Amino acid sequence: MKKTSPNFRFVSALMLVFAVIWLLIGAITFSSAQPAYQLDSFGPGPLMQVVLREAETPVQKRLLPPGYLQTAPQLATINVTYVGNWDQNAKNAFEYAASIWETKITSSVPIEIEAEWTNLGPNILGGAGVNRLFANFPGAPMADTWYPIALANKIAGTDLDPADVDIAAVFNSAFSGWYFGTDGNPPANQIDFASVVMHEIGHGLGFFGSMAVDTGDGVCGGTGLGCWDSIYPYVYDRFTENGAGMPLLSFPNNSTQLADQLQSNDVFFDGANANAANGNAPVELYAPSTWEPGSSYSHLAQSFDGTPNALMTYSIAPGEVQHDPGAVMLGMFQDMGWTMYNLSPASFLPIVYNGVQPTPTSASNWTTILP
Ligand SMILES: [Zn+2]
Repeated sequence: MKKTSPNFRFVSALMLVFAVIWLLIGAITFSSAQPAYQLDSFGPGPLMQVVLREAETPVQKRLLPPGYLQTAPQLATINVTYVGNWDQNAKNAFEYAASIWETKITSSVPIEIEAEWTNLGPNILGGAGVNRLFANFPGAPMADTWYPIALANKIAGTDLDPADVDIAAVFNSAFSGWYFGTDGNPPANQIDFASVVMHEIGHGLGFFGSMAVDTGDGVCGGTGLGCWDSIYPYVYDRFTENGAGMPLLSFPNNSTQLADQLQSNDVFFDGANANAANGNAPVELYAPSTWEPGSSYSHLAQSFDGTPNALMTYSIAPGEVQHDPGAVMLGMFQDMGWTMYNLSPASFLPIVYNGVQPTPTSASNWTTILP
């Protein structure tokens, strides 16, 4: 047996200490070189739509006060890239709707929309989705939760995906009944294009969840239709519950139990700001007894039709005008992480629908409620 000399043992021990120190320094250096967060992203998200429905009486009109866009402060920037054979009047109506949204949400990061004029067949007027969702970005209010990119950018204060547009929207070139005016006065047999754009931008800003029914099972945040290979829920999903107050996320994924919930006519969005704008009650969502892809779960319930919060119901009728998102939707956005400067109905837009003329709102009303 070879005996090691005391000197060799000393050197060996010293080398071991150095090795441990080197490893520690390496580990510290390595960890400090990593971001303090784990940025996850995937995309695109699901496409949500708005569909045409039959004309109804009285026609709902929710207009903006006269001079609104001249007086309301611009709090965000929305840039639009047009793809396809767009009519200039359609572009003008799109810019009008984008300008309204620019006064409703705040973000220091410009929101990029690609809008395509394309054949969507009968009944579907438009659709929109996000190109990416992010989780665990700097400042994310909820961990392990997918945020649509425009909202993630807003919260992070930086463009997390500068190479791509944020929202992809499509509008039906095969539909012949468009009204491209922005005066909220479409003929009774035409669809107000600006209202449809308002709705689709709403989806693009985050009005959608991941849950879906796929071959009889309710799916969310896992693999399968509507979940987009993610393992996280969307921020919207964090707020949904049934009429008994049980979070839909408490039901097992890929289960008939979750499918039953999603087709129960008994699904709600329960968030502090949404509820406050809804008479202190959770907000009912569209959950018909048969799953409707692109419509179910990610729209307000039909009970909001004919109210000031009808923009995000799943359909729009000829002659109908919805130029204001309504306090309920904005409350939901605020719960999900958007900030608005005032949601009080008293100082917010006047309630205008069913053809009632709007009450003028002076410029001073807007400047006094700025943050
Ligand atoms: Zn929709």
